[in-house]
Amino acid sequence: MARYRVIAVEEHWASRRHIEAAAGLPVWPGDALEMELMRGAFGSSWMVDRLSDLDAHLADMDGSGTDLSVLSLNPPGVQPYDSAEAGPLAERANDEMAEIVRRWPTRFAGLGAVDPQNPKHAAAETERVMGELGLSGLMICSHTQGRYLDEPAFEPLLAAAEAHNAPIYLHPRMPSEQMIGPFKAYGMVAAVWGYQADAGTHAVRLILSGTLDRHPKLTFVLGHLGEGLPFWMQRLDNRYAFAYRAGAETLGMGKLELTPSEYLRRNFTVTTSGMDDQRALAFCLERLGEDNVMFAIDYPYEDSSAATEFLRTADLTDSQRAKISHANAERVFGIASSDA
Ligand code: MN
Repeated sequence: MARYRVIAVEEHWASRRHIEAAAGLPVWPGDALEMELMRGAFGSSWMVDRLSDLDAHLADMDGSGTDLSVLSLNPPGVQPYDSAEAGPLAERANDEMAEIVRRWPTRFAGLGAVDPQNPKHAAAETERVMGELGLSGLMICSHTQGRYLDEPAFEPLLAAAEAHNAPIYLHPRMPSEQMIGPFKAYGMVAAVWGYQADAGTHAVRLILSGTLDRHPKLTFVLGHLGEGLPFWMQRLDNRYAFAYRAGAETLGMGKLELTPSEYLRRNFTVTTSGMDDQRALAFCLERLGEDNVMFAIDYPYEDSSAATEFLRTADLTDSQRAKISHANAERVFGIASSDA
């Protein structure tokens, strides 16, 4: 079997400097539970080493057969912090990430962090990320202090991402304060169910709000094979049309240029992060097309070798395997092809 270049696109990182700088900062009250959990993880030197030590990350990549990792600041980025702190934190982290990419250009690429709580600064930082820093896009960890990117305040950020061709990896996190109630039992608030519920809801908001009519060239990347949306495509179209006829005004619905599933195919790509599931992958390939699925591990939260083993052994055509392994990531994130 041919050996394809392997690019993994949801691989987390945080410098020791960043972890220390962020450790004592007050967080938005709605994010308290999530930040208690994340900061608890930093009590483990194993986790801090895995996130901050690039030699350890490279050794993990060598062990799993991962050629290049697209790094992103450990979730939920700088989004829980006050505006005054979040902007400088993002800038420093992006400077450090750019340095890593310059040092290991064939092993690492990076997605910049931004502070959506200050949309104008986030827009300016997007320009810097895609320009002088030479990074490959943005990671935004779903809601920012309970607010979603379709809301008018975020227009400058979305306009900048579109203008500078910055794909936005919409990474999951715990549900916002408005929806978290029923998730608080049985650990559902975490990645077992709550992350997907919030990120999937965020993506549906972007679709149904008309945001993608205003910004038709935006690309969003969803982890976990699309956070459930590929399974809902027919029903999103069917029930959007029904609800619109039944009570568009009552339900606060606008007229869209496309059907919901057409936006999903046009403006979204999905990754395999944490979803080593042959049947789910085959289903997504059929519904979204083979140009819209990319490989991801979710280092250091998932087992890298299990993920690459899944990629190597999944029942795929040569064309599908090449696109999922590297070609789609090269296109979406502007990563130089290894045979260029
Ligand atoms: Mn992740």
